[in-house]
Amino acid sequence: MEVYDLVIVGAGPGGMCAAIYAQRARMKLVILEKAGVGGQIAVSDIIENYPGFPSLSGPDLMARFEEHVKDVGAEIKFSKVKSIVKENGLFTLEIGKEKIQAKSVIMSSGAEPARLGIPGEKELFGRGVSTCATCDGPFYRGRDVAVIGGGDTAVKEAIFLSRLVNKIYVIHRRDKFRAEKVLQERILEKENIEFCWNNVGKEVVGDDKGVTGITIENTKDGTRQTLDVHGVFIFVGIIPNTDFVECEKDKGGFIKTDENMQTSVPGLFAVGDCRVTPLRQVATAVGDGSIAGVKAEEYVAEMEGRSYAGKVKAD
Ligand code: NAP
Repeated sequence: MEVYDLVIVGAGPGGMCAAIYAQRARMKLVILEKAGVGGQIAVSDIIENYPGFPSLSGPDLMARFEEHVKDVGAEIKFSKVKSIVKENGLFTLEIGKEKIQAKSVIMSSGAEPARLGIPGEKELFGRGVSTCATCDGPFYRGRDVAVIGGGDTAVKEAIFLSRLVNKIYVIHRRDKFRAEKVLQERILEKENIEFCWNNVGKEVVGDDKGVTGITIENTKDGTRQTLDVHGVFIFVGIIPNTDFVECEKDKGGFIKTDENMQTSVPGLFAVGDCRVTPLRQVATAVGDGSIAGVKAEEYVAEMEGRSYAGKVKAD
């Protein structure tokens, strides 16, 4: 079985940055990615808070990361990891019918959009219900849609949709957004957005052709109304992709790490959106990745009794 010094699970910004550091430390490594390079950022229409790039699209930024990863000689393989088990000091990763082993692993597996769990949501998913405005927004050109949520994702995606659709109802369970102030200022200026504060989605309604409306309920007085919309975009948080690895997690499934990105399992590190962190941004994922890349190299060097940058062994 092939034994790597390091396997990085997920080619998001954190994983790609870890690969650059670890590859430059001459670790034998591979990045395993189940879908496309870039993770959630690859479906973000615009990034404005990554230093050095005042405004560029998520796919453009991730293409630059990928190019850099390839330039340093790191390999990206498209495979879904089914399980990770540590035995006798080595990690075994199950990938389809194949298995590979690694001395260390960095989890950079990101997160998926959460769902509401209301009637009609699952049945009409892909037929009017969506968790990706960049992917599905163009289908609703000139039509009316609803956006649910009040965080960075909901507000950014609603701003993006406002340029395409006729009208948007933004449905938020409180009367204040959680999103960055600059995003709040921008969304409040949009003339084709109506804000349904203190409201929650109760049911997505539709027929065999797709969504025809959403029933919402006011959390203050319990009144209900059905809005006529053809699209319902749900942005109510994220669920980490961490169910295939055993280590200490919080109740939401986010992996707990220390300041070295080390998890409760020695040699298993976690970076970016899949870990417990006060901020989920490209910039923070990259910071996590650089630390994990260096610490994984140190871990493997210690395991093998070798020197590394922070600790030079006497001959
Ligand atoms: P989030 O920050 O967790 O926001 C989720 C939103 O959904 C909140 O407004 C929340 O309401 C609402 N919500 C949660 N559960 C709900 C429910 N059951 N019913 C109705 N509403 C519900 O998630 P996110 O916006 O997807 O962002 C995820 C992370 O990525 C965050 O750390 C965010 O900062 C980061 N991000 C950053 C950017 C950027 O450009 N900087 C872009 C996207 C995401 P409450 O506010 O009442 O809790």
